[in-house]
Amino acid sequence: MNVHPLPPSALKGEGMTSQRARDRLATKLKEEGIRDQRVIDVIRNTPRHHFIDQALHSRAYENTALPIGHGQTISQPWVVARMTEALLEFGVPQKVLEIGTGSGYQAVVLAQIVPQIYTVERIEELLRQARRRFRQLGLTNIRSRHDDGKLGWADEAPFDAIILTAAGDAIPHAILDQLSPTGVLVAPVGSPSNQMLIRMRGDGQGDFIQEELGAVSFVPLLGGIG
Ligand code: SAH
Repeated sequence: MNVHPLPPSALKGEGMTSQRARDRLATKLKEEGIRDQRVIDVIRNTPRHHFIDQALHSRAYENTALPIGHGQTISQPWVVARMTEALLEFGVPQKVLEIGTGSGYQAVVLAQIVPQIYTVERIEELLRQARRRFRQLGLTNIRSRHDDGKLGWADEAPFDAIILTAAGDAIPHAILDQLSPTGVLVAPVGSPSNQMLIRMRGDGQGDFIQEELGAVSFVPLLGGIG
């Protein structure tokens, strides 16, 4: 079912980074309403501790966001699961754009399910570390770029799905223009104190159907490159 499974060696870990810790997290996500078994299975098989500093390894499988440096965070596992399931609900997209690579965790979760991921990050050092993780995990279906993600990735458009992992006041126009006419976009929108996860679906005629998926808390979508 995973189109790109990770090598078993990536899952070695003891105690707080063991398979048991990941299994417990997967069970918790299910209890908290995640329904898509593909997403649960991928989170169960993705070593989140590889995406954070060693000092935080003992907290890797807690259902919380954690700092990754440069004032940024790796998202809460429940939020990663919810966004991934919202993106997959109408079928598996072939080509997905992510804005905000951060640690690379969300990209790696998606890359195990969909054929092609394109991810953009504005902070070069975070991108460098994320690329190293993609290589170490043997994932060759993730392409990444150091740029202002508000511009999307025009040369590779259109995308069947787009996910933003940082919150702006609105979805930048350049990004919406890069969504295929029947594509799906999932993004947090709003201010730090009042954010909503939204999903937009193209109706094929140039309009979008918009839904609210619940309150969330993401770091801000900034302009320019860091
Ligand atoms: N998906 C990430 C979440 C990282 S937090 C993960 O799984 O770890 C959001 C990230 O968005 C941060 O790394 C931040 O630097 C980045 N970001 C914010 N504004 C951006 C922009 N305009 N273009 C690209 N990346 C941006």
